Amino acid sequence: MFIERSCIFCDLPSDNHLDVCSHCLQDLPWQGNACSKCALPLSIVMETTTIKQALCKNCIELPPFFQQTFATFNYNFPIDALIPKIKSEKQRFHLHWLALCLTEKLPACLKMPEVLIPVPISKKKMLRTGYNQTEQLASELSKLLNIEVDNRLVSKNRDTRAQANLNAKQRKRNLLDAFEVQENNYRHIAIIDDVMTTGATVNEIAKHLLITGICKVDVWVLARTPL
Ligand SMILES: [Zn+2]
Ligand SMILES: [Zn+2]
Repeated sequence: MFIERSCIFCDLPSDNHLDVCSHCLQDLPWQGNACSKCALPLSIVMETTTIKQALCKNCIELPPFFQQTFATFNYNFPIDALIPKIKSEKQRFHLHWLALCLTEKLPACLKMPEVLIPVPISKKKMLRTGYNQTEQLASELSKLLNIEVDNRLVSKNRDTRAQANLNAKQRKRNLLDAFEVQENNYRHIAIIDDVMTTGATVNEIAKHLLITGICKVDVWVLARTPL
């Protein structure tokens, strides 16, 4: 049976199989030019080399441990209003169409990872919220791409403060020994996160993953905050 969906943004009947109509979909803040390492949005002025090789100042000065980041959107309106809402149970259906957007934005020639690794939350936080939306996002991606998710490879030992409000030194201290990685035989993995703010969290996880012998760590996120 065909169920008519209305667009979550404009309330008009959706003209496709998603919960967003094609007009509103087009108006979303899709990521354009960005640093090929950390997906930081780059201004046109900075595009002196080919887009493929564009790097932000931070990644030139101190390259991260991960190889490349794919962000579907810039963390601007209405994505920045929508993603925080997904924490509530009724809004979780958004992860399905958002995951679909993410897969459609991946380059066609991309070498796929062996496994998807969601950014973990601490046991304490899991008890409090009962839910990790990054695990849910990874599970949606897994169904769409037929790639396994490993929820056990990386665990978080303790709660950390939100990275965005800390300076560089505090950020490092905040993440110190926060993550633990199991021994494994993977070679190429992708870390999954909903929003990448400073990149320090995924970088810390990537550092631990490389130590266990993984050769290549990619990062896939729904949205990247512009600085
Ligand atoms: Zn619409
Ligand atoms: Zn960068």
